[in-house]
Amino acid sequence: MNILVHICCAPCAVGVLQNLSDSGSYSITGYYYNPNIHPVEEFLKRKESVEKLSADNNVPVIYNDEFMLQYWKSSLSKENRCDACYLMRIDDIAKTAKQKGFDAFTTTLLISPWQDHDKIKIIAEEAASKYGINFLYRDFRPFYREGKNEAYKRGYYLQKYCGCIYSYFESDHKKKPVYEF
Ligand code: SF4
Repeated sequence: MNILVHICCAPCAVGVLQNLSDSGSYSITGYYYNPNIHPVEEFLKRKESVEKLSADNNVPVIYNDEFMLQYWKSSLSKENRCDACYLMRIDDIAKTAKQKGFDAFTTTLLISPWQDHDKIKIIAEEAASKYGINFLYRDFRPFYREGKNEAYKRGYYLQKYCGCIYSYFESDHKKKPVYEF
């Protein structure tokens, strides 16, 4: 089965790609589409690690460099942002998978214990139905820690916040990068 795997970041993708590869059932192509990430320096750091992952795993990746700071600033409230963020990305993933002739799509968002797993599943199922494509659902969360450890060993960039401008300012990680918006 030819599957398009949305990659939110390299550390989350490690466990997902390993799990899918181990099954031996999929021909995998990655799709980097994360216009929620801000600022551009952070976007590029994460993208660079996905490029390394692509080479290390020998998995081709399609890059969509759309970037939407003004959209986030003007159109979203702090409260509804995650639903809108999932919807924006997953709708595009399903549409792209259909347009490019894949059999199915999935997303590395399903590995993160920090995301709303059930909401992502519902949105992906709705997008699959909307575009007439299969959504491969897996609960990848048991592979999260192992994947993160492997990402650390490989030297991938480990981000300190989820991605959007709101999450940047909410993060209290002591070593978060200092950016001006
Ligand atoms: S916290 Fe994460 S999932 Fe929620 S809107 Fe921000 S980037 Fe998207």
